Amino acid sequence: MDLSVVIPLYNEEENLVPLYEQLKAALEGTGREYEIIIVDDGSTDGSFEVLKRLHQDDGHLKVIRFRRNFGQTAAFAAGFDCSQGQVVITMDADLQNDPADIPLLLEKIEEGHDVVSGWRLPRQDPFLTRRLPSMLANWLISQVTGVHLHDYGCSLKAYRREVVKNVQLYGELHRFIPAIANWMGVSVAEVPVRHYPRRFGRSKYGLSRASRVLLDLLTVRFLLSYSTRPIHIFGGVGLISFVVGIGLGGYLSFVKFALGQEIADRPLLLLAILLMVLGVQLISIGLLGALVVRTYYEALGKPIYVVREVLDE
Ligand code: UDP
Ligand code: MG
Repeated sequence: MDLSVVIPLYNEEENLVPLYEQLKAALEGTGREYEIIIVDDGSTDGSFEVLKRLHQDDGHLKVIRFRRNFGQTAAFAAGFDCSQGQVVITMDADLQNDPADIPLLLEKIEEGHDVVSGWRLPRQDPFLTRRLPSMLANWLISQVTGVHLHDYGCSLKAYRREVVKNVQLYGELHRFIPAIANWMGVSVAEVPVRHYPRRFGRSKYGLSRASRVLLDLLTVRFLLSYSTRPIHIFGGVGLISFVVGIGLGGYLSFVKFALGQEIADRPLLLLAILLMVLGVQLISIGLLGALVVRTYYEALGKPIYVVREVLDE
């Protein structure tokens, strides 16, 4: 199998048939062996009935139906798990992405990149609620993860099989796959793709996504840098806090015993105590983290490295 196209879908009944037809045309045009995996993320409209009909007439179409709405990331994960293609393409089901752009992504993959991310140009979404938060998010994610992309939010992306196989998805982390993959040492590229306004159905997200993206970014940054050594971040901050606390305490003791002044009413005393307690707590959290990490990696038999190839003999 050359190509798997994974599409999460939640209540997109009217979009399905045109999506399917456009996809078919684009995929047949590539001349490769392909499969389409549509993950019905607990739709409550007639989407599944439409999918069933399409599936009956087409052996290339696999449909996975969730019991309830688990979210777009879970849908991607389910699609990845059952995909067999050497290259896995993801896209939205709402026709905002154009299946005719798939060959562009494939071309980039053939140039040797492992992840190719679409860059929606020009983006057809409202400015205030979508494009502005998205611009800020893209800038911030690029700065924090060191993987500079213009459009993290674009679902139209292509991955080599090894990438998909090695990335575990949780929560709403699908938009960070390029950043997570980059940690493995793969090469990430970007291509401009077309984007259209949504014609049928409604967007499933609102402005509240912005704060979740921010928290996810924090998680990703932490996991990428410290997941095997939590003591370095917690212990580092804890040590600074503890040392400053001890220093202040020493100074106050000097004031009390050598100079004979009262220190009970000094705010500095409170600060010294706070910093010392905080320091001990942060170091303890770091040590607990170290235990958790060992349990995690050893229980799952997960290596802490990713091998590209081995030359032996
Ligand atoms: N989607 C999904 N599960 C959800 C929410 C969305 O599978 O819980 C799908 C949805 O059907 C669409 C894609 O994810 O195919 C992107 O959703 P949407 O178009 O609402 O996001 P936007 O383009 O507005 O960011
Ligand atoms: Mg959309």
